[in-house]
Amino acid sequence: MIFDVLTLFPEMIENYCGFSIMKRAIDGGIVTINAINPRDFTLNKHKKVDDTPYGGGAGMVLMPQPYVDAYESIKQCDNTVTVMLSPQGEPLNDNIVNDLAKYDQMILLCGHYEGFDERIREIIKPREISLGDFVLTGGELPALCLIDAVSRKLDGTLGKIESAAEDSFSNGLLEYPHYTKPRVYRGLKVPEVLLNGNHKDINEFRLEKSVERTKTKRPDLYKKWVENK
Ligand code: SAM
Repeated sequence: MIFDVLTLFPEMIENYCGFSIMKRAIDGGIVTINAINPRDFTLNKHKKVDDTPYGGGAGMVLMPQPYVDAYESIKQCDNTVTVMLSPQGEPLNDNIVNDLAKYDQMILLCGHYEGFDERIREIIKPREISLGDFVLTGGELPALCLIDAVSRKLDGTLGKIESAAEDSFSNGLLEYPHYTKPRVYRGLKVPEVLLNGNHKDINEFRLEKSVERTKTKRPDLYKKWVENK
């Protein structure tokens, strides 16, 4: 999958993607990340990308020309989705991540300062996605969250050992608790059932714990799971 990220801070994207599983996915040819700076597309000599809002008010607004020109410079394939990171978008969840993982190319528009001139939305017509009901200083962190979450759904990003199949939300529930060595830590013991090698018992225990913690931590999810059972 190709991720083309329009950002005034390309290093933020490149740095994050230079580590751990994202780096491995890039080195393995599963994902490609291109960070494109709209500042490189400005037509004014000071490379200005923002200006004061018409009508007054605080903050600087991102001007349409550098963003639209940067966007139009990207070669699109037949199966491309364009996403604008915005607190006004649909709140991101696992269903949206699964849906976005079906595309071959994703163009991400990261805002900054007061946000985008409205005409950027009108011309590009992106799908707007939010990380939640709070406001960040820029779209880079949400873009990275989306890139990371989508990448781990692609075949080959996670090794077998890191499989996403049992992650929280994959079956409508939160994942069961995990334990590793040592068997006893500060008097707290690993549940006996996990040590006996009986996979039927282990699966039953894990499902029971998944249901229990979903009911406690996320009653909204639990209700949906019961309805869909
Ligand atoms: N003035 C805008 C508003 O109230 O809707 C907020 C602009 S915010 C300070 C600057 C940029 O950060 C946005 O254009 C967007 O790209 C990004 N951003 C901030 N919060 C976000 C969120 N919850 N989800 C996704 N992107 C967000």
